[in-house]
Amino acid sequence: MQRAVNAGELEKQTCEVCGIEAVDAHHDQYDEPLKVRWLCRRHHTRLHHYGEDMFPIRDAF
Ligand SMILES: [Zn+2]
Ligand SMILES: [Zn+2]
Repeated sequence: MQRAVNAGELEKQTCEVCGIEAVDAHHDQYDEPLKVRWLCRRHHTRLHHYGEDMFPIRDAF
């Protein structure tokens, strides 16, 4: 049963770097499951490759 995507809780967004709509959810910290960054495949891969500091984290969360 899927219960993570409730209204307002975990709204899918566009890639925070390039704004493309096909995105993956990236979790910075697994003990904070609602703290998610949205990144397209390309930027998601790059972030994992170069580390969390690759892109600045927004203050929005
Ligand atoms: Zn991107
Ligand atoms: Zn990730």
